[in-house]
Amino acid sequence: MAPATTITTTPAPIRFLLSFDDGPAAASSGNSTVRILETLAQNGQQPGIKAVFFTQTRAWHGGGTDVGRALIRREHDDGHLVALHSATTFHSNHRFMSGQALDESMQDGVADLLAITGVPPSLVRPPFWAYNADTLLTYHAYGLQMLLTDLNANDGKIYGINWSWHKRANMLKHLAETRVRWAAGRMPEVDGATPVVVTFHDVNTYTARHLEEYLEILVDVARELDVPLAARPFYDNREELERAALASTVADAASRPQLPGFWNWLWQ
Ligand SMILES: [Zn+2]
Repeated sequence: MAPATTITTTPAPIRFLLSFDDGPAAASSGNSTVRILETLAQNGQQPGIKAVFFTQTRAWHGGGTDVGRALIRREHDDGHLVALHSATTFHSNHRFMSGQALDESMQDGVADLLAITGVPPSLVRPPFWAYNADTLLTYHAYGLQMLLTDLNANDGKIYGINWSWHKRANMLKHLAETRVRWAAGRMPEVDGATPVVVTFHDVNTYTARHLEEYLEILVDVARELDVPLAARPFYDNREELERAALASTVADAASRPQLPGFWNWLWQ
């Protein structure tokens, strides 16, 4: 009788999948989205990083303006993945919209992005992380998969303040929580890496000024927690980025993944 063998597998090294919500910014000078695009392209950690931009295609102060549309096009032309956050004038909660209003806004958002980039979006992220079984069904009906997050910079305007002093401690805490799921083999592996989704807001000028520091912090906290990093710690190819993002989406409202911070308490 053959002896039982125990196969111990270590999960694949992690790779940071950067995502930016609420943009693009519409400012004609000192534009935070532009600064973020420049830092992703050129920085001391890894040049040519590609990210997912969850855009608001009709935001009155952003995606709905000429500057905003030009920036969405630039995000795509620079090799990033453009995705949908909202297609309403404001940052509206999808859970509080009627079925018909949500339907229309998904239709508008997909059409807006298709017109600007030439490709339909494959990903959506609900404003305020607020979704339920019905919103998820609507997303799927428009060919959109929902991506939440593992790490969150907590830099959304909704907080009204910037957590500048807590940047490192915050990422360390979120990655320590993610590490438990990683070590247990509960995260998807794609192309030899475990994607770890990180969320920022490109309309935040503080984030734009400190993005390079954030990149350093991410690499640094992974080392501190002894989580192995992929040889290139950030995604730098749109197709690979999209595969990783799609593998990390939520397929089913019953699975109830952890939401960032107090949103978890609010919605679940
Ligand atoms: Zn948002």
